[in-house]
Formats: sequence, C-alpha cells, structure tokens
Amino acid sequence: MTRRELAGCVGAAWAAPGPSTRLETKVVRLNLRHTWTVATSSSTFRDTLHVAYTRDGITGRGEGASLARYHEDARSGQAAVESLRGLLTSANPWHFTKLMAQAFRRLEGQWAAKAAIDIALMDWVGQKLGVPLYRHLGLDAGDAPLTTFSIGIDTPEITRQKTREAEAFPVLKIKVGLATDQETIAAVRSVTNKPLRVDANEGWKTKEEAVAKINWLEKQGVELVEQPLPASMIEETRWVRGRVHIPVIADEACLHPSDVPRLAEAFDGVNIKLDKCGGILEARRMIDMARALGLKTMLGCMISSSVSVTAAAHLSPLVDYADLDGNLLIANDPYVGVKVAQGKLILPDRPGLGLTPAH
Ligand code: MG
Repeated sequence: MTRRELAGCVGAAWAAPGPSTRLETKVVRLNLRHTWTVATSSSTFRDTLHVAYTRDGITGRGEGASLARYHEDARSGQAAVESLRGLLTSANPWHFTKLMAQAFRRLEGQWAAKAAIDIALMDWVGQKLGVPLYRHLGLDAGDAPLTTFSIGIDTPEITRQKTREAEAFPVLKIKVGLATDQETIAAVRSVTNKPLRVDANEGWKTKEEAVAKINWLEKQGVELVEQPLPASMIEETRWVRGRVHIPVIADEACLHPSDVPRLAEAFDGVNIKLDKCGGILEARRMIDMARALGLKTMLGCMISSSVSVTAAAHLSPLVDYADLDGNLLIANDPYVGVKVAQGKLILPDRPGLGLTPAH
C-alpha cells in the first residue's frame, strides 16, 4: 500500500461515524456562595450548559454560560447543540477548525453553546495528543497572569466580609455602577489597600457621570475601569477616555472579532470571554486582532464551573489581564482544573483541559 493510500484509509476511518462517538448535553445548576449582584442583575444560582464529546474512549468536556444580557439561556443552548448532533458525531474531530466553522454557520447566535462545543473538542484533542491545551497552543504556562477576584455589589458589611475572604488575591475587581459606588469602595478600602479594578457593567448612564466617577476612583487606587457606559455608547466612551487617567476596557461592547476594530478609538483594551465569542479558537483570534490594533487584552469569564474557566486559563499566557474567578464564586463546582496561588493562575499539567472530578 502506498503512503497516499494509507493516508486515505486513515482519513476514511476518521470520517466514519463510529459507534464509539457519543455526545451528551446537560444543564447544570451552579449555586453561588454569595448572592451575586452587578449593576444590571442579581442571582443566587446560574445554569450552565455542559457538553461531553466521547470518541475512542476519551471524553472531552465543554461548558457554556449563557447570559440573558445576550438573549440566551442554557436550555436553548442545549437545544442548539442537540441540533448539531448529526454533524458532531460524524465529523472528523481533528478537523476541529472546519467543524467549528460549520457549527458557526449553522447556529444563529447561541455563542455559549458554540463555546461548549469548541471547548469539548479542544479538550478531546489535547487528551488524544497527550499534551495540556496550553502546550498544544504553543504557550508557556509560566506566563499565565494574576487573576483578580470579583466582589459583587452588596451592603458595606458584606462587602467588607467578602474583601477579607479575598485576602489571598493581590488584586480585586469591584463591581460598581449604582448609586452606592462610594460606599462600596469605602467598605473595601476600610479592609485593604491592595490595587483595585472596577467594573461598572454599563451602569453609569451619561458621559459626565462616568468621568466624575472615574476621576474619583483614580484617587482610590483603582488601576482600570471596565464598561463604564452602555455598550452602544461608543462615541460617548471615546469622550470619557479623553478625560480620565486609567485604562478603559470594553466588555459588553466587545463580543466578537468584528467588534474589535471599531472599539480601538474609544477603549484602551477589550475583555474577551469564551461564552461571548464562541470558544477558544475565536477568543484567540480576538486576542491576536486586539494586539494588532494596539489594545490591551483581558480574558474574563461568566459565573461557571472549572470547565469553562480552565479553558480560558489555558489561553491566559497571551493576555495582559485575567479575571478568571467564576468557578471560585460557586459552591458546587463539579470539577477541579486551574488553580490559583497568591492570585497567579496555575494551569493543570495534565492532557487537554486537565480536569479531574471534584468528588
Ligand atoms: Mg465585565
């Protein structure tokens, strides 16, 4: 048999929908340690979509955290993945780039569902190759940045308690964007002097209010601000950026690669999340694009388990800032993956995502 014929046989074997290929989807309820309040919502639990892709005895795991903000929920995400069952169980997983392009063409929206598929495939590929995902991506785990720990909006007493609980983290991210911002920062500052980042989650409604708040925050040891104004207010944010002295980072305004170029004049950086853009492959494109445009890069996450947060962590050696603490905010994480030591992300050295069951 010639080499070409042999290659053809291997390809044919992969293309066949083998009985060993299995796809499972389920919605998992994650309970929050504290009620989670930001400028736009409040919740005690989050439902996320989990995908398990099994082939040749190896299971790749993925997760997507849908947000109502982006008109998605876990159940419709599950239905979206199920609508691709035929494609996913018959396609060659080594063609993951083509496979994800097909999934992107066939699914309208449903970015968290796309992320769950992408993460499961990349976990499977890494395990099959026997290398951690960061190594497959050509990255140095030692370059993984510090992650912030996020403090949701609460009473001053609870805010002080949460700040004490976050003692191990050298940088905190404080949620603001309501009338109580000064009380919130005062409560944090009564406990610690460590650097702070703040996230207004579109909570300030005018450019004048945003400048006044940010100019005050600059004097409180705040080193950057995320999404000060509603996502649609790009021109107003450009006006704000010219009047403040700390970086302004886009989050809700920055969902997909096509959003990045128009943000370069109004923001100093972008917060990229797998659940917003549709997975690891797309997030890497956004990081590369943002860098090419001179923007700072941040990897963030939704409230989710260690599946999604660990997937993002494997990309984190590429970015300036990490806010990858969604798994630390929940009480019933089904998996152990990325860990944090004095704020630094410690990537698992096992193949793929490197997840192990929590129990
Ligand atoms: Mg944010």
